[in-house]
Amino acid sequence: MFKYDSFYFQCPHCQAWLEGRNLKAEMVNQSILYSDGKVLNDNYITTPQKMILCPSCGHVFWIEKPVEPLITFEKPDADVYSWNTWRFFGISFSDNKGKLALINHYKTFLKKSHYEPKNEIYLRRFLWWAYNDLHRNLHYVRWRYFLNGFMSFGVWHCNRRLLLEGEKLFLRNLKDFNDNLKRLLALLEKHPEEQIDLEVPEIYRELRQFDKAKELLEQVGSRTHFTNEMLRHTKWKDSRVFMVSG
Ligand SMILES: [Zn+2]
Repeated sequence: MFKYDSFYFQCPHCQAWLEGRNLKAEMVNQSILYSDGKVLNDNYITTPQKMILCPSCGHVFWIEKPVEPLITFEKPDADVYSWNTWRFFGISFSDNKGKLALINHYKTFLKKSHYEPKNEIYLRRFLWWAYNDLHRNLHYVRWRYFLNGFMSFGVWHCNRRLLLEGEKLFLRNLKDFNDNLKRLLALLEKHPEEQIDLEVPEIYRELRQFDKAKELLEQVGSRTHFTNEMLRHTKWKDSRVFMVSG
């Protein structure tokens, strides 16, 4: 049994067919939530990809909601570009080069044209997550992840090298990271209907504006594990993305 339901849609420019996938929630073994709002189900990002770069003709188009009639669940009687060929623009994330390539894709899209606020928010949110991916699981560099048998020495060591290199790349791009967050923050404050959960205080925290982050978090009505963890990291003056649960 597949973990996904496949659906199919066409590029509006060249009519090539592309395969999309919806993860079946009931078959997910592990869900991870990060402080920047990124959620992974069995290692796959849950937020659907709305912007598509056609693998056949290079045309860029948006899919707001994958619903019929634009989309069909019947496999068409034609060649279909598989999900991996267009998802995240066909990039492989096994090393930091792939992560930088994704960052560059978003930066290029943002430079190339002017977008509706909703779409610009979407692109800047994904750019933010892509920067954070460079050092998202930095806690794994600690010895205890090897010592407690969480991973083999080979895997831990290789992962550690990637993460330390990712952290360096993140710091090298810090100015661009901050510029993107400032612009995203301005857009979200102007369009509160587009905000997700605790994204605004999290942006202040990642911009190292800890007092403002704390002030906003303290206004949140019901305290959850998420809010408490964010407050803790704010108090430590820690601005790095962290795993909230998983
Ligand atoms: Zn096309």
